Amino acid sequence: MSARPELAPYAAQDSLTKGRVHEEPPAAPRGEFQRDRDRIVHSTAFRRLEYKTQVFVNHEGDHFRTRLTHSLEVAQIGRTIARMLNLNEELTEAVTLAHDLGHTPFGHAGQDALNACMKDYGGFEHNLQSLRVVDQLEQRYAEFDGLNLCFETREGILKHCSLANARELGELGQRFLEKKQPSLEAQVANLADEIAYNNHDVDDGLRSGLLSEEGLMESRLFARHHDEVMAKYPQLNGRRKVHEIIRRMINTLIIDLVTTTRANLERAGVQSLADVRNASPLVSLSDEIREQQRELKHYLRINLYQHYQVMRMTSKAARIIQSLFDTFLAEPRLLSPEHHENVQRDGARAISDYIAGMTDRYAMREYRRIFGIEEISV
Ligand code: MG
Repeated sequence: MSARPELAPYAAQDSLTKGRVHEEPPAAPRGEFQRDRDRIVHSTAFRRLEYKTQVFVNHEGDHFRTRLTHSLEVAQIGRTIARMLNLNEELTEAVTLAHDLGHTPFGHAGQDALNACMKDYGGFEHNLQSLRVVDQLEQRYAEFDGLNLCFETREGILKHCSLANARELGELGQRFLEKKQPSLEAQVANLADEIAYNNHDVDDGLRSGLLSEEGLMESRLFARHHDEVMAKYPQLNGRRKVHEIIRRMINTLIIDLVTTTRANLERAGVQSLADVRNASPLVSLSDEIREQQRELKHYLRINLYQHYQVMRMTSKAARIIQSLFDTFLAEPRLLSPEHHENVQRDGARAISDYIAGMTDRYAMREYRRIFGIEEISV
C-alpha cells in the first residue's frame, strides 16, 4: 500500500507502520489501521464496555453514558479533529475505540480499588491494562494471543505509564524513558477523550439532577454558551436547551483545538512524524480555553464525582472489588477451572485480569454468589 497523498506529511501512514509483533499478510484492500479498528470492534472486551460504568452505574438509568457510548463519542470527536487536520482518521478511530478496553467495572473507583489490591504485585494501571487486553488477553486468533495490532495503535492506547513499567515494554515503552511524543493521531485521541467526558458528564449530571444549570453558571465555558442559546431562543427550556448548550461547547472546544494545533505545527516547523515525536506535545487547546476547561473539570469533580450519592456508589463498588480480590487470592479454588489455572500460572495478576474484565453487573452477581447466603446452594 502506498502513501496517501491526502494526508499531511506529519500524519501516520499505514504504509510506514512499524508493524505488528507477529508478522501477517498485508491488510489490503483495507488499510492497516482500518484492520486494527475492525479487530477492536469485534473483540469481547469492546462488547463488555456496554455494561461498564462511566460515572453512573449501568442500571441507574437507560440514558446515562456507559464506557461503550463514551468510547463512541470519543471516536466521533477524534475523527472530526483528525480529518480537519489531515491526519490518519482510521488510526485515531482505532486508538479512541480501544482507549478504555482495560477499564475495571465501576469506573475510577474500581480502578483505584484494584490498584490498591495489587500494590504488592506490580499495581494496576488502566492504560497498561488496555494494552494487556489487546496484546494478550483477547483470544481470537489461531496463531497468537491478543489482537496483534500495529505499533502505532498500541502506542496510542498506552497514554500514560510509570517509568518502571515502561522499562519492561521494550520499544513501546521507549518514548516514556526518552520523553518523546506519540503520533499526532494519538495526541488527538487523548484530547478527544477529555472533550467527550467533560461535556457528557455535564449532560448526565443535569439529567440525574445532581447538577443544576444555576450551579453550572460558575463555569465560564457553560455560562457563555448558555447565554448564547438564551439570547437566540429565549423560550427554550428542558433537554433541548441543555443539548443546544452542550453541542456549542463541544464545537467551541474542537474549533479551538484545531486552530491552536495548526498554529503549533506551523510554529514548530513540523515536516514529518519523526519531527512530531521529537517536539513537545503539539495537539492542544489555547491557554484561555484550556483554563476554562480546567475550571469546568474542577466544578465536575467537586459537584458531581464527589457528590454524596455518587460517593455511596463508588464506596460500595470499591468494597465489592476488594472483597472479590481478597477472597480469590486466599481461596483460588473458588474460581472456575479456567481462571484457577490462570492464577496458578500468573498469581495475583490473573485475579486482577479476571476482575478488570468484569462488567458492573457481573461483578455484582459474582459478589452475591460468593457472599450472599440466600444463594448458598450455588
Ligand atoms: Mg475515556
